[in-house]
Amino acid sequence: MTAAPQRTCIGCRKVRPKAALVRLVRGADGRVHVDDGGRAEGRGAYVCPDPGCLGKALHTGRLGHAFKRPCEPPASGAAAILNGRVVNDKARR
Ligand SMILES: [Zn+2]
Repeated sequence: MTAAPQRTCIGCRKVRPKAALVRLVRGADGRVHVDDGGRAEGRGAYVCPDPGCLGKALHTGRLGHAFKRPCEPPASGAAAILNGRVVNDKARR
């Protein structure tokens, strides 16, 4: 039995354990942001914590496809997301 949920990275299209991926959510304003806690409401998209995957995933077309609606990529960019993820992981209680 496969217990761990799996999701497809929207950058490389590989299926990986959900826990190993960064969750992106689309806000009501169309702006996509990182769901650090994995609890934000709305449809999520998943991407590897990898600069190449994030770089591809943050293209408007990819996000629009993943969320099936027009999206604005995060203003912070792939590098900031990766840095933020590392910081948040360390700061998490
Ligand atoms: Zn990937």
